Amino acid sequence: MKYLIKKMTKMHCARGPKRCKICEEYSKELKFALLDVAPEEHLEAARPMIEIEIDGEKVFQVYDVIAFFNSLEEAESYANQKMISYEILFQEYP
Ligand SMILES: [Zn+2]
Repeated sequence: MKYLIKKMTKMHCARGPKRCKICEEYSKELKFALLDVAPEEHLEAARPMIEIEIDGEKVFQVYDVIAFFNSLEEAESYANQKMISYEILFQEYP
């Protein structure tokens, strides 16, 4: 599994919603993110991590956000157009 669609808020910077206006705006709105959970190695140390379940086992994985979408349909149609096979991370849904 390499790609995931996950419902999450957009991230802006490390200051977070309490100290940054843009982060605060972003934190109000859930988007559907298409994530690459097996990105190629980069030299930068600080990369966002996500907890995902693979075969019933919870693992932490670095990821890249490919794009954010307003709906699951948009995310799926983008992935389908790009011939990306993905999984939807249902356990994160409210
Ligand atoms: Zn910010």
